[in-house]
Amino acid sequence: MSFESDLSKGIFSIPECRSCNKIIWPPSEFCNQCFGIVNLKKGEFEGKIVEFSRQNNEYFCLVEFEKNIRVLAKILKIPEIGQKVKISKCGISNGSYFFHVS
Ligand SMILES: [Zn+2]
Repeated sequence: MSFESDLSKGIFSIPECRSCNKIIWPPSEFCNQCFGIVNLKKGEFEGKIVEFSRQNNEYFCLVEFEKNIRVLAKILKIPEIGQKVKISKCGISNGSYFFHVS
């Protein structure tokens, strides 16, 4: 199981090293600190909006998870800095990751 195969099924998982518990981002099979095997944590993760921008009446925000992961996500309501959000939809489209939060 890799991060990308989960993501392509619409599952957002968090890559974490089994040995040193470091969050591995960008996702990789091995830890970049201790070369340990990376495990994928599943769950309903809560992220925090750190930045947002508006493009053609759509809002995109930078969402931080577990202090280490930052993803660009689309949001339907007007976002606020510091707002807590969860991933409502995710996947891979044309080779790039996409995320929606609410
Ligand atoms: Zn490690």
